[in-house]
Amino acid sequence: MEEPHIISPIKLLNEDNLRLDKRRLDEIRPIKLEVGVLSRADGSAYIEQGKSKILAAVYGPRELHPRHLAQPDEALLQCIYRMATFSVEERKSPAPSRRETELSKVITESLAPAVFLKYYPRASIDVYIQVIQADGGTRCSSITAASLALADAGIPLRDLVAACAAGKIDGKIALDLNDMEDKSGQADLPVAMMPRKNLITLIQMDGFMNKQEFVEAYELALKGCRKIYEMQREVLIQKYISIQEEFSEEENEQDNGG
Ligand code: ADP
Repeated sequence: MEEPHIISPIKLLNEDNLRLDKRRLDEIRPIKLEVGVLSRADGSAYIEQGKSKILAAVYGPRELHPRHLAQPDEALLQCIYRMATFSVEERKSPAPSRRETELSKVITESLAPAVFLKYYPRASIDVYIQVIQADGGTRCSSITAASLALADAGIPLRDLVAACAAGKIDGKIALDLNDMEDKSGQADLPVAMMPRKNLITLIQMDGFMNKQEFVEAYELALKGCRKIYEMQREVLIQKYISIQEEFSEEENEQDNGG
């Protein structure tokens, strides 16, 4: 079957293969990661990826309500993905949409393989994800932030889960599509993985790519995941360095009779 030739209504690449936001095809959007941003949550994280801004809060392991949902041999991981009414250009209805319900399930399933759920039978681990500003790729950014929030909550993990999408814009394979590229491009391939274990926990595809393009996009998405994983590790290491510094300052003060 001949591949359909789709022409995007907007030119997403210039003559030098630079994108509208001046990125190269294999470049991720600028990422900012923070952990421990919410004092009432057991663990939390914040991510900015380009113009997308997302908060993740973890509560638990805690008692599960309603109790009949409790699993006798492991904890129930429940991720809830919601977009704020003001997160997109046109006001989004506050009622949970089908898309939000689907993404909640997709995100839960991407993170569950990383969590030692068997350590907490009958308990619940709740992850609330709030998209404050959406500009494409929010399921991947949510997975990246939620995984950090789980680590921040001290929940034992097999590995962090890092997520990144690749896709096809103006017929070329590109990393980490933004909203405009997602809507006007030809395909989007979100991938999540546990890089240290080399295990894929999510792979979805929207749009059309041939086999060769799929392989290229998949490999590019994995590269993106690995880069994001390094950033996740770095922010957690920094957290523990600053805790250590606080402790040694306190100890010094006590030693000096302060
Ligand atoms: P992802 O955010 O994981 O790429 P989708 O492909 O479903 O998920 O959505 C792509 C983008 O479309 C979102 O990141 C967001 O910028 C935009 N979007 C999603 N829902 C809405 C909505 N209700 N109104 C306007 N834009 C939306």
